Amino acid sequence: MTDLLQDLLAGIAADKLKVIDLTHTLGPSFPQLSLPPEMGQALPYRSEEISRYDGRGPAWYWNNFTLCEHTGTHFDAPIHWVSGRELPNNSVDTIPPEHMIAPACVIDCTEDAERDADFLLTRERLEEWEAEHGRIPAGAWVLMHTGWARRVNDPVAFQNFDEIGQHTPGPDVDCVRFLVDKRDVLGFGTETIGTDSGQAQRLNPPYPCHYYMHGAGKYGLQCLNNLDRLPPTGAVLFTAPLKLEEGSGSPLRVLALTPAPA
Ligand code: MN
Repeated sequence: MTDLLQDLLAGIAADKLKVIDLTHTLGPSFPQLSLPPEMGQALPYRSEEISRYDGRGPAWYWNNFTLCEHTGTHFDAPIHWVSGRELPNNSVDTIPPEHMIAPACVIDCTEDAERDADFLLTRERLEEWEAEHGRIPAGAWVLMHTGWARRVNDPVAFQNFDEIGQHTPGPDVDCVRFLVDKRDVLGFGTETIGTDSGQAQRLNPPYPCHYYMHGAGKYGLQCLNNLDRLPPTGAVLFTAPLKLEEGSGSPLRVLALTPAPA
């Protein structure tokens, strides 16, 4: 084993590096993406017991489950959006494995999202963040920390629908263009059910994070948890989606490795 890998394992064993789980537990009541009724719908998570040390299987317990590729804490691949449909290596089974280990920049928007559920992250806000924490490196995840994960046990508050639609925070058009064109990020991650804001169908183009990120071969992460446990910079994310043939996305376990607080 090389010294680098030895150092990594020694750092974890000595608690100098923390492993943080950024994943929600996925159960049948987990909030599910909901589209207008005329559209096709995503299945929520369902589990059906096959046996539990009983007549159906005396020594073993196991379940069948069904879900959408975009259920729970999950990964979006470029093929998910029409803008990324022609790109090479655009589905979860073909994206390069090197992309599944990458640094993360965490933008704290918790106060903004508390004040305004429709809060949009702007390029100016990112530049302020960079003035404090340094330039967002190429190939990094940018994670929008809104505190939304705290709502996860209240599906109504998590979805936050009213008569005109969903109200959840996300990036604005310029913010996404800046991250794609000027910073060449790996992707954008959120605590909410989409990488775009709840009212992003009203932006131009609609759903700009999906449109520009996936059109540039970049990725999305949604329904992230525990972002309050990450530093603004310095965390490394492990994001390996299931290797589903032509999969547009996948539920996954998102792990972060962070330096232990001094
Ligand atoms: Mn998705």
